[in-house]
Amino acid sequence: MPAFNREMLALARESRGLTQTRLGAEVGISQAEISKFENGLKIPSDDQIRRMSNRLHYTVDFFFLNESMRDFGSNCAYHRKRKSATDSKLTQLLAIINVRRIQVKHLLKSVEDRATYSFPRLDIDEHAGGPEEIARLVRALWQIPPGPLQNLIRAIEDAGGIVIRCGFGTNKVDAMSQWLPGQKAPIFMVNESIPTDRMRFSLAHELGHICMHATLTDNMEREADKFAAEFLMPEKDIRPYLSSVDIPKLAAMKPYWRVSMAALLYRAAELKQIDERRKSYLWFRMGQAGYRSHEPVEIPPESPTLLKELVKVHKETLGYTEREIDAAVCEPNAFADLCIHDEPRGLRLVAR
Ligand SMILES: [Zn+2]
Repeated sequence: MPAFNREMLALARESRGLTQTRLGAEVGISQAEISKFENGLKIPSDDQIRRMSNRLHYTVDFFFLNESMRDFGSNCAYHRKRKSATDSKLTQLLAIINVRRIQVKHLLKSVEDRATYSFPRLDIDEHAGGPEEIARLVRALWQIPPGPLQNLIRAIEDAGGIVIRCGFGTNKVDAMSQWLPGQKAPIFMVNESIPTDRMRFSLAHELGHICMHATLTDNMEREADKFAAEFLMPEKDIRPYLSSVDIPKLAAMKPYWRVSMAALLYRAAELKQIDERRKSYLWFRMGQAGYRSHEPVEIPPESPTLLKELVKVHKETLGYTEREIDAAVCEPNAFADLCIHDEPRGLRLVAR
């Protein structure tokens, strides 16, 4: 008989953005008692578990899973955020990515993974060319042709990575990722409320962490940005386009490269196609035009399909009902929005 897992209670509570006090008030349990449950000093009664399960919208089984929350401290979760994101929001998002990671692991148990490519772990100290060299290696490994990367989410999914596009409840965090030992492929969460060009850069930044940073380092943020820039705008391919850029040119290049005008401008300066003065001037002009908060030229969205496929295989091939899927992931309606009407891109997952 599995034991009550105090960590799953904290994870459930944090994923719903609730404090111990607030949860306690809503389920008629004191904060002190909830704190004891989460610290392993006391075990909740069946009735208390049921009440918390109802409020937190996870099945009772969720609290008995033999899993645990993984933190930044375990060097596995990364997030791309703006400085002003609150700690409580980050805690919630970190809890959500942990929940999704655990749920996906349970769903993946019953299917065979047929990813075409895989995620490498490359030690940055062993690559003299730095993050850029690693970005080129990953592109080569994934057989990405030269020039703009048409669909980043698809490239990640082709390597077996799970991408979840969802609301973050803030636009101060763009993306998060997690790859734990023993987990076949990483999981990425991207904020659905940010423009596609920004989403792509943030996702490529996360991919950089996944491929380069098994441990936290001082320079990791800068390195992940460099990786992202080279991954989306390889120097060899983009250099000729960047000489003498101006604002209309940046706007014209944006839909082709599927990156923001700001990213193109920074790339032009980084590759010395324009000098710092010109960069500052164009940056100032973009600010005047209001482009720093809202750029013109929208890039069509990229949508993940692998998780949908995973649900579809359970429904159609393995004969799971919606309720059985909910039970498998310990959360009612967790994947209800992943309807089966979407066009699949050909099954990459087969039932075991
Ligand atoms: Zn980062």
